[in-house]
Amino acid sequence: MDLSELYQDLILDHGKRPRNVGELPGHNREAEGFNPLCGDKLTLYLRVDDGKVKDAKFVGKGCAICTASASMMTEELAGHSEAEARELFTRFHDLMTGKITDEQMPESMDRLSALGGVRRFPMRVKCATLPWHTLIAALDHEHQTVKTE
Ligand code: ZN
Repeated sequence: MDLSELYQDLILDHGKRPRNVGELPGHNREAEGFNPLCGDKLTLYLRVDDGKVKDAKFVGKGCAICTASASMMTEELAGHSEAEARELFTRFHDLMTGKITDEQMPESMDRLSALGGVRRFPMRVKCATLPWHTLIAALDHEHQTVKTE
């Protein structure tokens, strides 16, 4: 397997120096993710106001792919509406599972497309998608809470 292709510069950079690491002060959404296949663990914090993701941070212990994906995802999320965040998840998931190609990714998601190469390594796809599944869990959790209020 061609590791140089898998670990592209962008992924390497985010894996080594992840952005948005730490607990988010004033967060109102939170979810935990665990990928037993690799041992990736992360907690995602979101601050959602007026249906918009204002900020996202994470704390985790994961492999380079998982860490890079979480770092890139939190960078991408800020400023998007909840609906847009879910759409990003769907596109990213489609890319990672081979439903769409890099070329079919919206231009605005160029940086996330860098992770597309991971899909050639099925064991690592779960590493890359874990932060995104955690995102959906965090968004869904608030909906359940809202119902009980
Ligand atoms: Zn992993």
